[in-house]
Amino acid sequence: RSGFVALIGRPNVGKSTLMNHVIGQKIAIMSDKPQTTRNKIRGVYTDETGQIVFLDTPGIHKPQSKLGELLVRTSRNALEEVDLILFLVDAAAGAGPGDQFIMENLKEVKTPVFLVVNKIDQVHPDDLLPLIDQYRNRFSFAEVVPISALQGNNTNALLQQIFFYL
Ligand code: GDP
Ligand code: MG
Repeated sequence: RSGFVALIGRPNVGKSTLMNHVIGQKIAIMSDKPQTTRNKIRGVYTDETGQIVFLDTPGIHKPQSKLGELLVRTSRNALEEVDLILFLVDAAAGAGPGDQFIMENLKEVKTPVFLVVNKIDQVHPDDLLPLIDQYRNRFSFAEVVPISALQGNNTNALLQQIFFYL
């Protein structure tokens, strides 16, 4: 199995931390330099099951300008070209307008979307399900996967779920 997975989410939700944890020593490509393609490669994960190419899709955040609006449209098109979208959110911060903006744009995209609820090490277990429901009431996710990218909780389960969709 192999495929392309877009990693999206507000700044500071833990996208880089997840990449560092998942790719770890096995970094094939990891660059913070802007690239000319619409989808920038963040890293490539390979194991006996297959290969996952993680992509960064800039511009899906709330636009600050007219150029921003164009970027959002371009980003939506880029998201049509991947096999799966991981929408990372911060369990500790909760659902905010930045998340809402992204979900509204994802409604225009046909690619399946996972809700990846990160930083579960920072929330009480009783608070997790109500938080997840806040998101599920606003968007139809293919899967919901709670993780801690920092501690590595449930990240292997996330990888296995990703492979099912590739
Ligand atoms: P990005 O902007 O989405 O790439 O977010 P970063 O990966 O840079 O993470 C932002 C901050 O959140 C950093 O200080 C991370 O250490 C912290 N962080 C990321 N994941 C977790 C997590 O699972 N648990 C906790 N407690 N902190 C996290
Ligand atoms: Mg980052």
